[in-house]
Amino acid sequence: MQLHGVGVGRGVAVGIILRVPDPLPEPAVASHSGDAVAEFAAVEVSFAAVAADLLARGAAAGGEAQEVLEAAAMMAGDPSLADDVKLRIEGGSTGERAVFEAFGAFQTLLIDMGGYMAERASDLADVSQRIIAHLRGVAAPGVPISDVPFILVAPDLAPADTALLDLSKVLGLITRDGGPTSHTAILARSKSIPAIVGVVGALDLVDGTVIIADAAAGTILIAPSDAAIAEAEARITERAAALAAPITDGALADGTLIPLLANLGSPKEAAAAVELGAEGVGLFRTEFLFLDAKTAPTVEDQQAQYTELLSHFAGKKVVVRALDAGADKPLAFLNNAHEENPALGLRGLRALRASEQILRDQLTALVNAQNATEADLWVMAPMVSDAEEAAYFVTLGKELGLKTVGVMAEVPSLAVLADQVVELSDFVSIGTNDLTQYTLAADRMLGSVASYQDPWHPAVLRLVKMLGDAGTAAGKPVGICGEAAADPQLAVVLVGLGATTLSMTPAALADVRAALAEVTMEQAVAKAKAALAAHTAAAARNAAAAT
Ligand code: PEP
Ligand code: MG
Repeated sequence: MQLHGVGVGRGVAVGIILRVPDPLPEPAVASHSGDAVAEFAAVEVSFAAVAADLLARGAAAGGEAQEVLEAAAMMAGDPSLADDVKLRIEGGSTGERAVFEAFGAFQTLLIDMGGYMAERASDLADVSQRIIAHLRGVAAPGVPISDVPFILVAPDLAPADTALLDLSKVLGLITRDGGPTSHTAILARSKSIPAIVGVVGALDLVDGTVIIADAAAGTILIAPSDAAIAEAEARITERAAALAAPITDGALADGTLIPLLANLGSPKEAAAAVELGAEGVGLFRTEFLFLDAKTAPTVEDQQAQYTELLSHFAGKKVVVRALDAGADKPLAFLNNAHEENPALGLRGLRALRASEQILRDQLTALVNAQNATEADLWVMAPMVSDAEEAAYFVTLGKELGLKTVGVMAEVPSLAVLADQVVELSDFVSIGTNDLTQYTLAADRMLGSVASYQDPWHPAVLRLVKMLGDAGTAAGKPVGICGEAAADPQLAVVLVGLGATTLSMTPAALADVRAALAEVTMEQAVAKAKAALAAHTAAAARNAAAAT
């Protein structure tokens, strides 16, 4: 029997499963003893204790986990949440119930905002559980302790749990909730733990059951045969060898160079990416720096961040994307209006054009950083629809002093008009996440249509080929910066379709490097041709594998 979900990373895990215990029971609707001041004082003590505990866990974990835990600690110290709890206690509620309701209300608010914000809602639920556990004097719910290695199964993992996972014991992660951008996914990726999220039926798995979790395929095989276990174990050994191989520049077996670049969201991630062999940056998501900002960032603030990023890549290419606000990445200062279909709304370049001063400030900050450092800065616009929009962005960027200016191919219309676009643009970078969403008309944040969000679909591959062909004809580079580039088998096909560089989450670099080294350009082109002729995403994947 098999379960399915969204795989994170390329790993495989074989082992028994253990489930995170059920959450604490919901506090009863009840009145406190009458002393609201004492009731709130006890809650304040618990808020402070939980914040301190999260900070201590963060300090012990370090790195990205520390940032996540510090953000959770800030939630526990949020004065507006404390005020809401106080009001509820003054209205007669017990401390426990007031915490439960106040956090619940804030969670609903985040879920309604959708996208990145909605995925932070489970972080808030965890902080609430910890505070209630402290008030009750019981242990906070968390990861089970085991002497034998296991695959952890949970509704969703709280950052506090994921950050402190004992990697000598936890072979893999499976969650019922969460999407590819949930914290479980982000942290699993950064720690290279095989993970599958959004698995319907995950919580029906019984402790002690042996499974094979295959993140690349997004499948969980329950009670597998000995032969299946032996095959999975061989894959684990093979992958470990590939990951341990010396880091070289990305290249095919015939020597064709395919630079392997990193997708980053903060200058702080640069050093780790370089260590994993990133030959530069193929996508710097600038909006991640300003997700919480209420007002547009100043030129100086931005310049400092961009200069820090570029300083890690002297002599190397760094592709920075102009702010991509909207849909899954809302920015209050760029597009605050309510939209029925935000993915089809005023996002990306459309929003920047409507607030041109914000775009000019960002490009000016980038020009200043370019001129102050030795990196080879390329700048691109997100969500570009046609040659007119491409010309607008390229002309403005050059006028302000940028050297290399290009566009992202995320909207299918841009691929259809690829020949016109490559004439004006210095380069094109294909964002396969959005290109897939728009080609298959399936919201990338919506679990119910997740099966459509598959970049192996021949319709997506045909658009990539149109862009690749146009780039080759005009002598312009065409890179890939969507998640598709992190799938080693698909990466080979994308190169066969004309991609000249691949950019991905740094944890995926080793697997992709190993896959490229196994094929010649001729073989990559043959695999691409087989995939293009398939009728479905699954058939394209199989056709490429069989070629
Ligand atoms: C994409 O759409 O493929 C992409 C790289 O951009 P983002 O995921 O940030 O929308
Ligand atoms: Mg995109």
